[in-house]
Amino acid sequence: MGALDGRDIDLFEAHLAECDDCAERLESFVEVVAVLVEVNADALIKDHVAGRIQ
Ligand SMILES: [Zn+2]
Repeated sequence: MGALDGRDIDLFEAHLAECDDCAERLESFVEVVAVLVEVNADALIKDHVAGRIQ
């Protein structure tokens, strides 16, 4: 919690809604190690989202 601010969460959720790739990544993280989901998903997906948006 706290790694994403409000703006990033909006971008993240908007992106997730139309990106099966990120949805699958999130599911994988949840299945592997719940504790690490937040950090790993945040780093990977934020980078991925930034690459598509900018
Ligand atoms: Zn994505």
